Amino acid sequence: MTAEGDGKLNQREQAAKVRTFDTVGELLHWSYANLASLDAAYGRGLTKRDRICWGVRLKLYAGLRSGSMKVGTLFKDVLAAPTDRCVYCGTMPPPKLTGDHLIPKARGGLETGDNLVWACRACNSSKQGRDLLEWYAARTEFPSVTLMRRYLKLALVEADQRGVLDVAIADNPSVTFSLDYVPIKYPEPGQPFALTRR
Ligand SMILES: [Zn+2]
Repeated sequence: MTAEGDGKLNQREQAAKVRTFDTVGELLHWSYANLASLDAAYGRGLTKRDRICWGVRLKLYAGLRSGSMKVGTLFKDVLAAPTDRCVYCGTMPPPKLTGDHLIPKARGGLETGDNLVWACRACNSSKQGRDLLEWYAARTEFPSVTLMRRYLKLALVEADQRGVLDVAIADNPSVTFSLDYVPIKYPEPGQPFALTRR
């Protein structure tokens, strides 16, 4: 890669840092596209996202906004989720696994299996009725790509059902997920990074 290429990348990154998102849909689509760029980095064994990863993000975000690309169904995520160990910490039985809702039912999260994961007793009692993102923020950690992807898909389904995708965030739309914690920025692979309120 040339020095000039690096310069362009940095400019693009700078642009992303100051990017603002007015609507619920813009925020969720950007977060999803940014997550896809991180997933692309993991898939290619990179420690830092490169030009190809940024390309994934730009293309996916533009496609999601224009409607020419769609977020995948939750079915794949549900099938891929572990049922023999805690989805949060990876602890395998003997600790008894109990069902946990990524988006709490008490906040109106979906009651379907799409929202249900298996967690160990320790994680379950630590998380309690909290939203996934708020719980990770409280622990100054960042969710895995698979958990984050599922959460964003759930949020998109739910926002669509409520008809708030095009509502301005400033208007405080009624949503069940933690709008304030949906990340705009993502860590590089393996980099310690705490989820925080935007
Ligand atoms: Zn656990």
